Amino acid sequence: MNQTEEQNPYREAFNTLKESQFKVANRTYKQRIQKLKKLRVALEHTFKNDIRQALYEDFKKPFLETDLSEIYPVISEIKLAQRELKSWTGKHSVSTPWALFGATSWIKYEPKGVCLIIAPWNFPFNLLLSPLVSAVAAGNVVILKPSEMAPHSAKVLDKISKYVFEPNEVILVQGGIPETEELLKLPFNHIFFTGSTAVGKIIMREAAKNLTSVTLELGGKSPTIVDASANIEAAVQKIVFGKCLNAGQTCIAPDYLLVHDKVKDRVIDQLKKTIKQFYSENPETAVSFSRIVNQKHLERLEKLLQNALSLGATVECGGLINKQQNYMEPTVLSDVAPQANILKEEIFGPILPVLTFSTLEEAIAIINTRERPLAMYIYSKTPKNITQLVNNTRTGGTCINNNLVHFLNHQLPFGGVNSSGIGKSHGFFGFEEFSNKRAMLKQHIWATTKLIYPPYNKFKQKVVDVMLKWF
Ligand code: NAD
Repeated sequence: MNQTEEQNPYREAFNTLKESQFKVANRTYKQRIQKLKKLRVALEHTFKNDIRQALYEDFKKPFLETDLSEIYPVISEIKLAQRELKSWTGKHSVSTPWALFGATSWIKYEPKGVCLIIAPWNFPFNLLLSPLVSAVAAGNVVILKPSEMAPHSAKVLDKISKYVFEPNEVILVQGGIPETEELLKLPFNHIFFTGSTAVGKIIMREAAKNLTSVTLELGGKSPTIVDASANIEAAVQKIVFGKCLNAGQTCIAPDYLLVHDKVKDRVIDQLKKTIKQFYSENPETAVSFSRIVNQKHLERLEKLLQNALSLGATVECGGLINKQQNYMEPTVLSDVAPQANILKEEIFGPILPVLTFSTLEEAIAIINTRERPLAMYIYSKTPKNITQLVNNTRTGGTCINNNLVHFLNHQLPFGGVNSSGIGKSHGFFGFEEFSNKRAMLKQHIWATTKLIYPPYNKFKQKVVDVMLKWF
């Protein structure tokens, strides 16, 4: 250990976890479930009101959205683990080739060891605790690093962590960039990071120094396609809900719309109507609409809007900003120039640019000129169009005639592709991400290799020839 490693403020915490890793790892699946049940009680009862209040203070998140998007997904992860952990942790038998006659083989899912989970601010509970459920289910010890940008939530998370876990199982570290930089110097066995693509690259670079495996849940520009056969009213209701939940600060929110030019006017009219229906004439007073997390992000969004307008974009509705309240009105833009920054960067706010296409090839080309997205949504009643769109694009997840909700089915892997993420989370996929898949083979009777031990001769060459041909 060199001097800088000894001075690392988190070395002691890391060592405490490292020392207890095998004790924690060797608990039965029932003991792991007991821990998860305690976490469930903390979320459902003990801290439910604290969670709602903290998120309201952080960015005026409506209680219903907190229950739906922060508490429910973690509880449903726990419920699935309660049902499935026995089989996930059991022996996963696989076949053994004839050439290895006399042996049996299986995969042992064992915990990776000391893990680091780093979360963003936009769903601070869900995105710190859901991976924690997978990590604990898999038998790991964990350092948690919530985001500094949702400080009220981070405080409650610390209370929950201390209430549920012993300090030799899970330790929560508060802080921002400098603290995370120190943590990243430690030789974790796995890092699970959720956040922006830019920071994801930093995490991967730092992890590479210790050859630590990573799961990166990142962002990107998720397209939504509405073809001429779609049910416009139903599609737009889902799109407005998906875009305005959390004031658009959702990694899988529809980022931009690609609408068939035949239905453009109908879609825009319906967008205006639905925004009013959901959030009233003045969404600033609506209880169902959150605020932007801080001044910096509001200014970022304002700049994106100004840049689009300076290049000729039309505001179809919205556009108002109240800096005192970190408020931005749900905003729909049309006539957006291809070179506008809003079509290059992830928007992560309540602005929806509407682009048009006349052929599916054109829509596919627009999607494929960008990085591979985290999600893609298709609204269509034409199976041929759906197949063409799916077969000619690559994305982490896709909903057909809906959006966001694939996140809530934990039987599906969740994650991105390349710049939108590496690795998958949720359910068994999350458990797998936090597990070392140990290859196990047991020899029961004499080994076939005995037939070819040196010194080699013609007979042994024949044995290998037979093996090459038949087994
Ligand atoms: P962020 O990348 O700025 O921060 C995420 C975490 O990294 C925070 O805990 C922060 O303290 C830490 N961090 C920030 N800069 C760092 C640095 N230079 N070095 C080390 N650590 C650093 O992301 P954010 O603003 O909190 O969240 C928004 C982003 O997260 C969006 O891009 C969104 O798409 C993405 N996101 C992805 C998912 C997903 O599941 N794929 C979910 C939510 C958010």
